[in-house]
Amino acid sequence: MAVEHARPEQNNRQSKQDHGMTLPTDSGPAGSRGWRRLVPLRLRHPLPLVFAAIMAVVGTVIYLLMAQSQRKLIEHEAVKIAEIVAGHALAARTVYTTQVSSKLAADGTGAVQDYHGRPGYVPLPAQFLKYVGRESERRSQSLYQYRPLSKWNLEPTQGLSDDFQRWAWRGLEAQDQPAPAGPIAWRDVWRIEPSAAGSVLRFMRADPAAEAACVQCHNDTEPAPEVAALRVAAGVPPGKQWVQHQLLGAIEVSVPLNRVEAVAAAQMADTMRLVIAVSLLGLLAASWFAYHDTRKSQATAAAYEIQARYDALTGLPNRLLLKERTEEMIKRVSRESTYGALIFLDLDDFKNINDSLGHSAGDTVLRVTAQRLATCVRQTDTVGRYSGDEFVIVVDGIGQPADAAEIARKIMTSVTEPHSLSEHDVIVSASIGIACFPNDGTDAGTLLKNADAAMYRSKENGRNQVSFFSSDMNAKALYKLGMTAKLRQAIARGELELFYQPKLSLHDKRVACVEALVRWRHPEFGLLTPDKFVHLAEESGLIEPLGEWALREALEQLARWRKKGLPVLQVAVNVSARQFNRPNFVQRLKDILAEAQAAPDCLEIEITESAVIRDPDKVEQVIAAIHAHGVSIAIDDFGVGHSSLNYLKRFRISTLKIDKSFVDGIPHDEHDRAISDAIIVLGKALKLKVVAEGVENEAQRDYLARAGCDEMQGFLFAKPLPAAEAEAFLTTRFEDTVRMRPPAGR
Ligand code: C2E
Ligand code: MG
Ligand code: MG
Repeated sequence: MAVEHARPEQNNRQSKQDHGMTLPTDSGPAGSRGWRRLVPLRLRHPLPLVFAAIMAVVGTVIYLLMAQSQRKLIEHEAVKIAEIVAGHALAARTVYTTQVSSKLAADGTGAVQDYHGRPGYVPLPAQFLKYVGRESERRSQSLYQYRPLSKWNLEPTQGLSDDFQRWAWRGLEAQDQPAPAGPIAWRDVWRIEPSAAGSVLRFMRADPAAEAACVQCHNDTEPAPEVAALRVAAGVPPGKQWVQHQLLGAIEVSVPLNRVEAVAAAQMADTMRLVIAVSLLGLLAASWFAYHDTRKSQATAAAYEIQARYDALTGLPNRLLLKERTEEMIKRVSRESTYGALIFLDLDDFKNINDSLGHSAGDTVLRVTAQRLATCVRQTDTVGRYSGDEFVIVVDGIGQPADAAEIARKIMTSVTEPHSLSEHDVIVSASIGIACFPNDGTDAGTLLKNADAAMYRSKENGRNQVSFFSSDMNAKALYKLGMTAKLRQAIARGELELFYQPKLSLHDKRVACVEALVRWRHPEFGLLTPDKFVHLAEESGLIEPLGEWALREALEQLARWRKKGLPVLQVAVNVSARQFNRPNFVQRLKDILAEAQAAPDCLEIEITESAVIRDPDKVEQVIAAIHAHGVSIAIDDFGVGHSSLNYLKRFRISTLKIDKSFVDGIPHDEHDRAISDAIIVLGKALKLKVVAEGVENEAQRDYLARAGCDEMQGFLFAKPLPAAEAEAFLTTRFEDTVRMRPPAGR
């Protein structure tokens, strides 16, 4: 596949945007459906809320009306009771005055004489009524009370003693007439008064002088000297004379309302409970209908959403959604200051499939292509069908524009897998164009237009290839893509090789360890050092197979040397951060040691500070496990990474390697001297071995030896060499370092 530069003037289609293979859910773009998630059901559907408010108002009004009418009813019923009781009392009095007293007078059986000396007269009807009233009250269990009263009564307990009685009496007196022609139509006087137990109805009915005999009796009694004396004592002018039908006395009836009120309150509570229960049921019913209605409309909206934004054949986002997703990508990428890209893919010669194998086969190819595309991208990316055989992939969060080429390469590999159609295996290639944000456009329309233009450039250049919209990116991406692809093959083809560089012990003047350093014998470019390809391996993930190969190869070489009787103590292998942080790294390490039948203590792994900063807790466990297995760990390039003295304390490491950049300035640069000294002192204090790397001259060697460095590595002693050439050092004494230098190192 080749990467070419597209002409911007080609193709002018509208840019549209997409999503992954997923069908729409409420997690879609805020513009169209987001509000539904944010707004609660009750606000979206006001029916339950309105219903609840109406029910609250109606409930309150009902309560007030019921309380009002109940009070009226209670009063009305109490007045009725009072009327009946007063009626009975007056009927008893009438019977007494008309029947009993006249019969007693006629029979002469009375116990007392009247004022005229007639026998059988009992002149105490009011007293009689008083006792009847008490008995009646007892029998009615205090549902009411009654008693006779009169301003003119000679018995003090039946006089007017309180405010109501005086008020009510005046009310009756106001109805009295000086010379009534017949019975007066008396109106009862009553009012509700508060009492200790609640409230009470107090009621007064006139008891007029109905019988001439009564009038006579009272008029006769009034002038009597003892009566006159009582009147004067009570402040009433003596000698009052009545005419028949005039007001003589009254019956007062009291009806306590508390018992009736308690019954009414209980009834009211029952009624309110019923009202509330009915209201709640109504509210529930309204809510249910509203919910059901909302679900129905949501389902309908979702169905419309699918139709409007998704392609029916593949289930992928269509142009409309692609445009929205591109705009979202642009916003996100701008915020995070990363890069985004639109990858425009068009199947090559798709028309031929439709023409030769039929539309159903064509549909199958489109559906399978859609599925394959979805597997090539992350969940956060969007794959959409732009039209016919055109797909667009929206990618964001990439570290550099060229990374889009790696995704395009994956897509190309996947899309060009054979399709099984009508018993034939058919390979459908694709032409791909890439436009990057922000370099190739800052809005969705421009990006899509430019990605499309780049795709046309791929078509023009022979199809089945990837083109970037911008030319400089094309060159970089082309190089990177090509190198990565070739590195992948290099591992399989055995083009990688390990070189070895000795680390010399200043204590026993021998080679203590050899560091394995990878080289690539590139078929075109010759021997490549790691700076040309290790970063590509890191980015593409190839570092994992490469790193495992290096471990295995170094241990096998060590075994070969040992077999030859060479005195090599340890081999050091560099392990990348990505490899080190893999979940099963420790197990892989153990497996490789076991497969190579190597003792763990003959291996040292070199990791950089970047490997240990990501997740210190996890790294601590990994290092502890490696240490427990017997493998030693060195911190490589110490001092140039995110040096944190904290991890030196926590992690079970054995060696610090002073980075070459601090060795370079020794002995003339005071800063380099200070840093090297400090690292050596620190290492000593923590009981770590300190190794200086990049030692190139005697002055450096002598200074570092005096400072207390344990081991040294550098071109002064030996450059990294192929295994066969490195053998010479394994037996060499260190005293004469100059003689150890090989004639040609790499
Ligand atoms: P490193 O692990 O720090 O290796 C030391 C590098 O310094 C080597 O470069 C070595 O050739 C160079 N060197 C040693 N002494 C001197 C000296 O006196 N002067 C100068 N100018 N350079 C000296 P090389 O071999 O190019 O390796 C570069 C880096 O690539 C290594 O740095 C290591 O980080 C990485 N690397 C090499 N092999 C592997 C491997 O198998 N796996 C991984 N993950 N990384 C590797
Ligand atoms: Mg190293
Ligand atoms: Mg180093």
